[in-house]
Amino acid sequence: MDRSSTAVSPPFDVAIVGLGPAGATLANLCGSWGLRTVVFERSRAPYPQPRACHLDAEIARIFQHLGFEDDLHELLTASAGMEYVDAGGRSLFTFEGFEREPLLGWHEDYVFVQPEIDAMLRAGLEQYQHVSVRLGCESPGADELRSIARYVVACDGANSMIREEIGVDLIDLGFDERWFVVDVMLHDAAVPVLPTIIQQVCDRRRLTTFVPSHGMHRRWEFRLTGDELVPDVWRLLAPWGINAANADLVRATVYRFHALMAARWREGDIFLAGDAAHQMPPFMGQGMCSGIRDAANLAWKLAEVVHDGADPALLDTYETERRGHVAAVTALSIDAGKLLARLAIDPAAHPEPDPPDPQRWSRLPGLELGGEFPVGHQLPQPNRLDESLPDGWVWVAAGHTFDSPDHLPVVVEPRATYGHQAVLVRPDRYIAAVVT
Ligand SMILES: Cc1cc2nc3c(=O)[nH]c(=O)nc-3n(C[C@H](O)[C@H](O)[C@H](O)COP(=O)(O)OP(=O)(O)OC[C@H]3O[C@@H](n4cnc5c(N)ncnc54)[C@H](O)[C@@H]3O)c2cc1C
Repeated sequence: MDRSSTAVSPPFDVAIVGLGPAGATLANLCGSWGLRTVVFERSRAPYPQPRACHLDAEIARIFQHLGFEDDLHELLTASAGMEYVDAGGRSLFTFEGFEREPLLGWHEDYVFVQPEIDAMLRAGLEQYQHVSVRLGCESPGADELRSIARYVVACDGANSMIREEIGVDLIDLGFDERWFVVDVMLHDAAVPVLPTIIQQVCDRRRLTTFVPSHGMHRRWEFRLTGDELVPDVWRLLAPWGINAANADLVRATVYRFHALMAARWREGDIFLAGDAAHQMPPFMGQGMCSGIRDAANLAWKLAEVVHDGADPALLDTYETERRGHVAAVTALSIDAGKLLARLAIDPAAHPEPDPPDPQRWSRLPGLELGGEFPVGHQLPQPNRLDESLPDGWVWVAAGHTFDSPDHLPVVVEPRATYGHQAVLVRPDRYIAAVVT
């Protein structure tokens, strides 16, 4: 796995600004590809309060690739799904059926406690000698970063200093609401009895999102109207049976949920990723997931250019592939948020439920590789197939036998190739071509 380069100038292949989930995933991936990497992070410890609490199968698979599978069994809980309910708690619409085969080797959706995942990602970096992590260190400016690394990736969050410095504007995609986000840790997971499914409560007096998160963690998001002052948190939680005797308040903060996209994601050798490149309202739990997909898309391309002399034009495909996907996911997230308000006024105005789609997130537009299905889709992962595949490009043929690391033969099932004779798979496990 370690393919560290011996080139001396500049001292690093990649400089990453920010060790949030996007930067930390990218740093791990750069480490796994043997890229000499430096990371600047102004805080010493992971941000202690949870923001993201949902991730999907593709993200779990990326973490699996990074060697975190055992941690994930501890840190993730499979989600039971998401439903829209009326003010009385009656179900109006289930966003999608969540009962489906784990096509990518993982359940479709999970809940988690973000500081735990952040800590996992940071600990993972310790194995890479060629990744230098500068904690408690404000990033130098763009010019200095360029002088120490061949490529710079700004993963410095919504208020990205680097984005500002290189003069990239944010485009407003049309959503801006204030929500009061409340996290508690229950004393007893069974007390009080709460829904086991994510709920969007379409109550015109107070639109609310409830997330039964991992372990004792529970999340509420309450929409604020106009200039409304911050409400009393315990009064908001009382109808849910939560009080100071059965739960500890972790935080209660007002967030602006908005939808913004950087006008461009690249300026010469500087790339934007994660919240620095895009922000979306959290109704589909996809902001962090999108940043992690950015990292997975960019890392192997950087490695091919740096190590294998690939045409640097390959790096332009980072934005062309990711931008459309993020735009589609953002539009979906905005729709999911607006649906709350619509159903609060007219509970019958819900859309038809979508048919089950285990590739829900990865099949959205963006990966324009020019082929027909399944080109541009993730390779399915029956029987932990990834564990037997090499790290780079690989042909996967139905019926072919691989040696697994523990020397047990693994036969590729036809469903791994969507019934095709063989598929050509990119290092990020997207299918680039098929043989029929
Ligand atoms: C209420 C809420 C709920 C959410 N729920 C979900 C969810 O369920 N699922 C999901 O996928 N997403 C969710 N999101 C979105 C998710 O939290 C963000 O998209 C994600 O945290 C962004 O990660 P990031 O690494 O891009 O940026 P950040 O997490 O903001 O990390 C940026 C890092 O850069 C560092 N930094 C910044 N500037 C500098 C500098 N100059 N020098 C050094 N370091 C610097 C910061 O200290 C920080 O550590 C939610 C967001 C909110 C607010």
